Amino acid sequence: ANVFFRPIEKINAVIESYPKGIAGFRRYLEIMDTEPDIQDAPNAKSVDSLSGEIRFDRVSFGYERERPILDDISLEIHPGETVAFVGPSGAGKTTICSLLPRFYEVDAGSITVDGMDIRDLKLESLRKQIGIVQQDVFLFSGTIQENIAYGRLDATLEEIWDAAERAHLADVIRSMPAGMNTVIGERGVKLSGGQKQRMAIARMFLKNPPILILDEATSALDTETEMAIQKSLAELAVGRTTLVIAHRLATIRNADRIIVVNRDGIAEQGKHQELVEAGGIYSRLHQAQFGS
Ligand code: ATP
Repeated sequence: ANVFFRPIEKINAVIESYPKGIAGFRRYLEIMDTEPDIQDAPNAKSVDSLSGEIRFDRVSFGYERERPILDDISLEIHPGETVAFVGPSGAGKTTICSLLPRFYEVDAGSITVDGMDIRDLKLESLRKQIGIVQQDVFLFSGTIQENIAYGRLDATLEEIWDAAERAHLADVIRSMPAGMNTVIGERGVKLSGGQKQRMAIARMFLKNPPILILDEATSALDTETEMAIQKSLAELAVGRTTLVIAHRLATIRNADRIIVVNRDGIAEQGKHQELVEAGGIYSRLHQAQFGS
């Protein structure tokens, strides 16, 4: 399930009422900053250049008080590590990841990044450190340049091209009628699913966060595009702490660690081969989902 839907939904609503592209967007972000759902603590600190060490310490959380989703979850993720969350639908993989940018507040326990409780950090500064790539790429009616720059509004044209290059999107852009100034969206050029994914990846290269959350698509692109996107994502993940809500065998296999989440919490963790050999939930899940 797409937990990041809520904030995105808000952004979408505003985009429709702000057809002025990036200028409207900037204003929108200013408005959002003055009235966030979750308030900064009085002495909240700004952070930058985190190493990306993440720790969940006895975290409990439910969207409704009566129905806990996570109960006493503890978890440690090392700087630069790629962790794949796998498990049955509804187990709470997305929920775990959505607590990190503080889309929701934990009910008990704490989450720290680089040893700092996320509640003690300025929300804006915390979220600058976290990049999210979701299944539904959010693009607005505007130019390619504006859409990539959404990753970091003050980026220069050169930096935007560099990000496009790294996302393997630059050739596509160069072949378009107006290059970077090509308008996309309803009134312009339609992008393919794979190109949309690359736009999201380009934004993340631009944003350059030390922590990355990848919410993998469940619906498949064609195999060739899929492999190319996987490659770009793997490049993006280098040197970043990466949490993947994983559905793809390739991602899962290549993860530094697989965390198996079921309704009782974290059931197993380890590398692919270890978990297969352990003959537990993962090996059964793997068997059922992907065959032997
Ligand atoms: P999937 O693989 O289907 O994405 P998941 O493991 O990521 O599943 P979550 O999306 O974290 O699972 O959902 C965990 C539980 O929380 C589910 O029972 C779901 O119905 C519930 N849930 C998720 N988002 C919300 C929300 N915004 N409000 C209320 N309940 C929610």
